[in-house]
Amino acid sequence: FELRNEDLKDLHELGQGNGGSVKKVEHIPTGKFMAKKIVLIDAKPAVRKQILRELQILHDCNSKYIISFWGAFLADPNICICMEFADKGSLDGIYKKIGPIEIDVVGKVAFAVLEGLTYLYDAHRIIHRDIKPSNILFNSEGEVKICDFGVSGELVNSIADTFVGTSTYMSPERIQGSPYSVKSDVWSLGISLIEIALGRFPFSESLSDDSDLSDFEGTLSPARPGSMNSLAALGLPPARKRSSAAATLKKDKRKSKGVSLQGGAMTMSILELLQHIVNEPAPRLTPEGRFPEAEAFVDSCLLKDPDERKTPKDLLNDSWIVYSKTSPVDLKAWASTF
Ligand code: ATP
Ligand code: MG
Repeated sequence: FELRNEDLKDLHELGQGNGGSVKKVEHIPTGKFMAKKIVLIDAKPAVRKQILRELQILHDCNSKYIISFWGAFLADPNICICMEFADKGSLDGIYKKIGPIEIDVVGKVAFAVLEGLTYLYDAHRIIHRDIKPSNILFNSEGEVKICDFGVSGELVNSIADTFVGTSTYMSPERIQGSPYSVKSDVWSLGISLIEIALGRFPFSESLSDDSDLSDFEGTLSPARPGSMNSLAALGLPPARKRSSAAATLKKDKRKSKGVSLQGGAMTMSILELLQHIVNEPAPRLTPEGRFPEAEAFVDSCLLKDPDERKTPKDLLNDSWIVYSKTSPVDLKAWASTF
């Protein structure tokens, strides 16, 4: 059936991101709950129609590890994307509510994300490009599903002046200007797993309180490949002590959410964080050797050289993932605890 805005009753807001907001809605004719993503775009009518065409491929993305797509339509000046509603929300919201997520659950999440990424690439040659806890959703059936993957180049171009793909989950090679590959998604998965297992964004390790850098957003407009080929060319000083990038980000986030690339302390600190990702050793899950298999898996996701990093499909054979696939932790029971 054709989805029409008139048939959707707004219930409440589920969250806000860079490009717009997401609302829980009820599709009145069927009584079905959906999530409606409202994206404000700055584009001509022809481009809007092109975006809608590009989004149609989502109808063919059918996997239990991928959020289903119910349809998209124009509602001037927005584009609305209707998708499966996940009643337990995203993993960032979950750990912010209940604290660090236990390692066996993290293993199930890793398995599901790898299955989702492998499906997208094998069946559709789609690279996700935006793996992070807010794009990994969970429901009370205990299902883990990924959403918000990059299918529409025109949509990415039309979200005016926004930094699409939060810089902080970005792999070292992406920061240095290489195009996206399935291996950049693997890096982002590694960072996301540490974040949900620790209950905080991994690059903020030296901050004393539970800071919230994970949903940090900046308007770093040149998000195109190759746009940040040389940080040195921007006249950056060498990386400062480990804490400074994160600390500055935190301080500045209070002041404002989006600062342009030119000028301002926040700009500097975004670049410092990017520089940190490129130059410093990758973060680890736990330094103490408490969960050796999980730690080895995360280490392999965070190999800085993409040639050494495995693909999602290869990582499905990792020993921790093979264990996690059938491990006894009951996600449905876990979901009922919060
Ligand atoms: P960014 O814009 O940087 O990608 P984001 O992923 O947080 O950040 P949105 O994609 O706009 O931004 O989503 C906002 C919030 O809405 C998410 O954090 C998530 O908690 C919630 N959300 C998104 N899609 C769904 C869904 N299908 N079901 C339930 N909640 C959802
Ligand atoms: Mg999202």
